[in-house]
Amino acid sequence: MSRVRCTVDVEGPAQGVGFRPFVHRLAARYELTGSVCNELGRVHIEVEGEEARLASFIAALHSESPVLAKSLSFNVEVNTALHVERDVFRIAASRRSELHGTTVIVPADLATCEACLRELNDVNDRRFSHAFINCTQCGPRASIVLDMPYDRARTAMAPFALCERCQHEYESPDDRRFHAEPVACPSCGPQLRVLDRAGAVQSEVDPVARVTAALCAGDIVALKGIGGFHLICDATNERAVVTLRQRKGRARKPFALMARDLVAATALCTLDDAARAALQSPARPIVLAARRHDARIASQVAPDVATLGVMLPYAPIHHLLFRTLPCDALVVTSGNRSDEPIACDDAEALKQLGGIADLFLTHDREIRLRMEDSVVRSTARGVASVRRSRGYAPLPLRSAFEIATPTLALGGHQKAVFALGHGRSVVLGPHFGDLGDYAAGVAFRGALAHLERVLRFAPQQIVHDLHPDYATTRLALERAAESGVQETVAVQHHHAHLASAMAEHGLSGEVIGVCFDGSGLGDDGTLWGGEFLVGGYAQSTRAAHLRSVALPGGDRAAREPYRVALAYLRECSRSAREAGLEGLVDARALTQVQQLLAVPALCARTSSAGRLFDAVASLAGVVQVASYEAETGMRLEALAATCAPCGSYPFEIAGADTTAQPRVVDTRRLV
Ligand code: ZN
Ligand code: ZN
Repeated sequence: MSRVRCTVDVEGPAQGVGFRPFVHRLAARYELTGSVCNELGRVHIEVEGEEARLASFIAALHSESPVLAKSLSFNVEVNTALHVERDVFRIAASRRSELHGTTVIVPADLATCEACLRELNDVNDRRFSHAFINCTQCGPRASIVLDMPYDRARTAMAPFALCERCQHEYESPDDRRFHAEPVACPSCGPQLRVLDRAGAVQSEVDPVARVTAALCAGDIVALKGIGGFHLICDATNERAVVTLRQRKGRARKPFALMARDLVAATALCTLDDAARAALQSPARPIVLAARRHDARIASQVAPDVATLGVMLPYAPIHHLLFRTLPCDALVVTSGNRSDEPIACDDAEALKQLGGIADLFLTHDREIRLRMEDSVVRSTARGVASVRRSRGYAPLPLRSAFEIATPTLALGGHQKAVFALGHGRSVVLGPHFGDLGDYAAGVAFRGALAHLERVLRFAPQQIVHDLHPDYATTRLALERAAESGVQETVAVQHHHAHLASAMAEHGLSGEVIGVCFDGSGLGDDGTLWGGEFLVGGYAQSTRAAHLRSVALPGGDRAAREPYRVALAYLRECSRSAREAGLEGLVDARALTQVQQLLAVPALCARTSSAGRLFDAVASLAGVVQVASYEAETGMRLEALAATCAPCGSYPFEIAGADTTAQPRVVDTRRLV
C-alpha cells in the first residue's frame, strides 16, 4: 500500500458553509491524516493516506460538497515534502497570509435551517426558543463579519465567550455545530431585550411575549433582525397598517409582507415553482408575485397594485413571533424614515424610529454590514433579481470577461450599489437607497470602506455615471483624487444598464438592448430613458429612442404626472379641457405648467419611458401626483390586469425608411 501526501486548495464560496467540518468528516471516513484551514480567499487542505483512499477523498470533495462544486475550483498537488502528522486530521488555525491570484469571498447570511428549527421548537432541547440558534448550515455571516478569514474571533460573536457545552459542540467533529463560528446558546449567546420609545429597558418581561402582545394590540414594533431593523405590524389589522403609513410618512407605496409559512404565502399570492423555490431558499428574498383577489390582508398594505412582496421567516426571532401570533402575515418594512438607511444599532433605531415604533425588540449582537432584504420578481421565465442584498451580497458574481485592472464601479444615484471587480470576480455591495439623503451617503461610504478592507481590495480604476451631479459621481472623483487613482471612466447610464443586463444573463457579443427607464444623462446632454441601443460591453450606439417631450419643472415633473401629460398634450396640439384634465388638477397649477411649457428654453427634454407612463396615467385619471417612484407604472399594470387584451397601441417610427440614426418612435398617437 503506497501512501501519498498532497495539498488541495479550494477557491470559491467555501467559508461559512460548514466546509472544513465536511472535509474533516471525509478525512475520517477515508482514514487520512493532515489538516484543513481557512486562508484568506481559499480553504487549504494538507492530507496523507493510502493512495486509493486519497483518490476517493478527492472525488467525494467534489461530489458531496455542501457548496455547489461547480462554484468551487479545486487545485490538487502531490507534495512528498509535506510534514503531515501521521495520526490525526485536525482543523487548524486560520492563516491570514496574503495570497496571489485568489479572491477573498465573504459568505452570505443564511436562513435558519430545518434542523435548527426542530431544536428551536423542541421543549427538551437546550436551545428551545433560543433566538440566536444557528449551525454550520445556517445563521448570520456577512452581517457579522469584521474581517476574513471567517472565524469567530473576527465576527461580532467574538465578545460572547462560549460556554462549556457550546465549546464542546464546536470542537466535536461529529457534532453539527463543529466549527459553526456564530454558535451560541441561551447561557452564552446574545440576549433579546425590549425597549420603550425612550430607550428604557423593559427588564421584567419575556421579550417575545411582550412583543407578540403588542402586535396583537395593533402596535408597531421595531425589530432588530439580521441586516438591520424592521418596522413590523399585524398585516391583517387595518388600523395598525394605516398608523404605520401615517407615522412613516409613506402614503401609498406598497409594504412587504412576511407570511407565517409557504401555505400562508400561497394564500396571498399566485406562486409558481420558481417563486416557491426562491421563497424557501436560504437567501429568503422578498418575492414579488401576483396578488390573489381573496388575500386576507388590510387594504392599505398595498393599495391599487396587482402584486404583493412576500417573504418567509428567516431569523429564529421571526419563527418565535409566529409561534404565538394569531395572524398569518406581518407587514415587515425597512426600519428607516423615507430615504434614510435602514437603522442597524439601538441608538440609530431610537433616533430614527422613536416617532414610529411603539416598542423596540433588540439584541446585543452587533450588525457590521447593514443590509436590506433582497427582492426578486416572479416572471414567466423564472425569478429575476430586483434588489440584491441580504442573503446574496457580498457573494461575488462571475464576470463574462477578464477585468485586468482592479476596478471600483459606482453606479446610479438612486438604488445605489457599488461593485468591486478584478479577474473574473465581481463583488456587488448591498443595496442602498437614494443617495440624495446625507445619512444614506455616509452609510454607503462606510459599507464600501468596510468591504474594501475585508476583501483587501485597492482599486486602480474607478468607473462612474456620466451624470456629473450624482452623489456616486462626486464620490468617484473624490476617491480618485484622495487615493491617487489615475484612471476614471464615465459610462452612459443606459449603456451601463445594457451591459449589466448582459452580465446577468451571461450574454456576449452584440445585442439589441431596450432600456425603459426613468431618466439618465445621454451622450448628447439630454435626458434619455426610452432607448433602443445596439452594442455590447465596450460600447453601444443609440439606434432609436422614444420621441422626446418637455419636462416642465425638472424633478417635480417626475413626481407630478399631470405636468408631463400637459407636455404631451402640447405636442399633440390638444388642450387640457379636451383631455378632461381640467376637472382632475387644480386650475392654477395647470396654468402655471402651461406658462412654463410656452418657453421651451425653460424645460429640459426627455425620451423617458417612465414619463410616458406618467402622462398616460394622468390622462387616464389614475394618478396626478405620485407618492412613490414607479407608482404610475404599477397602478396601470394593476388596471391592465383587470382588462381583456385589446390589441396594441398605435405609434410611428420616424426615419424607418432611411438609414439615418437614431430613429424616433413617435408616441403621440398612442397618447
Ligand atoms: Zn442550522
Ligand atoms: Zn453556550
